[in-house]
Amino acid sequence: MNVYLDYSATTPLDEDVLKEMTPYFCGSFGNADSVHSYGRDAAYAVDTARRKVAKAIGANPGEIYFTSGGTEADNWAVRGLATANADKGKRIIVSDIEHAAVLSAAELLKKEGFAVDYLKTEPNGIVSPEKLDNMLKNDSAVLVSVMTANNEIGTLQPIEKLAAVAHGRGALMHTDAVQAVGSIEVDVKKTEVDALSLSAHKFYGPKGVGALYVKTGVKIDKLIAGGHQEKSRRGGTTPVPLVAGLGKAIELATGENLSPNAEKISRLRDLFVCNLKSRLPGVIYNGDEIRRLPQNANFTFPFAEGEAFVMALDLAGIACSSGAACSSGSLEPSHVMKALGYTENDAKKSVRFSFGKFNTEQEVMYCVDKIVELSKKLPETVSLIAETKQIKHNV
Ligand code: PLP
Repeated sequence: MNVYLDYSATTPLDEDVLKEMTPYFCGSFGNADSVHSYGRDAAYAVDTARRKVAKAIGANPGEIYFTSGGTEADNWAVRGLATANADKGKRIIVSDIEHAAVLSAAELLKKEGFAVDYLKTEPNGIVSPEKLDNMLKNDSAVLVSVMTANNEIGTLQPIEKLAAVAHGRGALMHTDAVQAVGSIEVDVKKTEVDALSLSAHKFYGPKGVGALYVKTGVKIDKLIAGGHQEKSRRGGTTPVPLVAGLGKAIELATGENLSPNAEKISRLRDLFVCNLKSRLPGVIYNGDEIRRLPQNANFTFPFAEGEAFVMALDLAGIACSSGAACSSGSLEPSHVMKALGYTENDAKKSVRFSFGKFNTEQEVMYCVDKIVELSKKLPETVSLIAETKQIKHNV
């Protein structure tokens, strides 16, 4: 049996999304900026998608800018908001469990003379509004960026409260909602964030397209100089099939479908977590038990290196992922696990299982059995695979 438990990495394209995209590759292939009928057809598809994205997150269509995905939206938000508002100060605050897209964009800002301070997460992976307030009390910041949901441990942040604190101290608030949109309710009117990033391939849409929401009246520097697309803020011919796919995917993943999907997925996740905890008492369930994404389960297996365990599971037909990233032949421990208080060594031992709408109970129980079976064979299996991998790196 092959089981895909890596829906937080990416999701398969929904067939209805593919149907929506297909006409814009060939028949209605026009440039959305052309004045003729081909262009008008394409422009209509882009406008429709913009309205659907706006509706899904409680925004106005004019506040939605299409991007190439979550990474681009995060980079644009962090850098574009900071530089456009630098007259108010050159300090930004980001949480220490942000995705690399935010952390790396913040690093780039340092080269432009910005100070970047890191808001430390609590041991359960939640960021505290009180801590943020303390950081802002004595020294103001122009921007605060905290993700709505963490991609490794699935923890949900109190964005509404964090935004209120940021605004109370004169800072703008951006949130990376890439993992959240399509999984939990996301409403910019409720949270009052100034900017929000999302990405289609996390909710059964195509890869290579996403969006940045920017509240009306908030100043942001342009991302790509070029044509007049996206109100002259992000030049480049609009990828109409991708944008149409994003619109359809977000429409299908939100609204009345959101709760039934989330309920089904969290039921499967809970079945998995409950069985794994009872059959492997040594494992540690990371993150907050309650305030987490419905699809996320993250475990530390004290007896195994996460990456090697993931490879062993792959041989058993199970696709999941480890937090550790491979860089120049050695494993980098996950910054999220380190932020939770794990040592460098133990931070390499986490494995993320993320569930989706195509998983079944039978698959879940198969995975639990396989994980338990494999764990009993450890450490032999895992160290053997680790050695093989090391040899590959050395070649
Ligand atoms: N932010 C978060 C929280 C993510 O999980 C990801 C992707 O995994 C990204 C940003 C980047 O999104 P994209 O793959 O669309 O560039």
